[in-house]
Amino acid sequence: QAADVNGKTFAIATDTTFAPFEFRDGSGELVGIDMDLIRAIAKDQGFEVDIKSLGFDAALQALQSNQVAGVIAGMSITDERKKIFDFSAPYFDSGVQMAVAKNDQDIKSYEGLTGKTVTAKRGSEGETFANSIKDQYGFKVKALADSATMYDDVKAGNSVAVFDDYPVLAYGVSQNNGLKIVTEKEQGSSYGFAVNKGANADLLTAFDAGLANLKANGEYDKILDKYLAKAE
Ligand code: GLN
Repeated sequence: QAADVNGKTFAIATDTTFAPFEFRDGSGELVGIDMDLIRAIAKDQGFEVDIKSLGFDAALQALQSNQVAGVIAGMSITDERKKIFDFSAPYFDSGVQMAVAKNDQDIKSYEGLTGKTVTAKRGSEGETFANSIKDQYGFKVKALADSATMYDDVKAGNSVAVFDDYPVLAYGVSQNNGLKIVTEKEQGSSYGFAVNKGANADLLTAFDAGLANLKANGEYDKILDKYLAKAE
């Protein structure tokens, strides 16, 4: 255990609905891969966490303004973000993918998006990706705050497609969320735990040490299996 974090409590921000990484179970408790990981790492390293379910963009802003010590939110390690945040070792490989309403017979590729509106999460890699191809395919991007609202927007027909991380889309589809995946996944970044640049170095070190311990003792695999077995 790391002496510098021992007994301390850290405020950690996360997304609201990003199953299977963070979501509320039937009894309203915040669960998921990120939640189990950060709690197990805290236990392993002897610190406490105070989880704040803020939403993705809000979590990043809270971290930037030092209102929280860290973010775990299926947050991709990108070069842009590395300018303002410090990241842990990667703990999950991800990438962006596109989904449409289950009963949509028209849109099978990006070509089908011409003249239409798609949705993606404000501040996410999915939004960055959608914006990077919108001129080429001639569509508009509507930014929304959370995945549940994005999926509802597609089901209501206000957006024809959603760009989100593939493990999250796959999990939702496996739970019959009314969507279907129609494209191959794009090359994406890995998820990391983030602290503000130059801040909370002890916490970051403890996260990496705890993650390595969880990988070595099989706990990491157990957590992933618990939430991903269903989706694959
Ligand atoms: N992995 C994506 C990103 O970091 C989305 C994260 C999320 O929506 N919680 O931008």
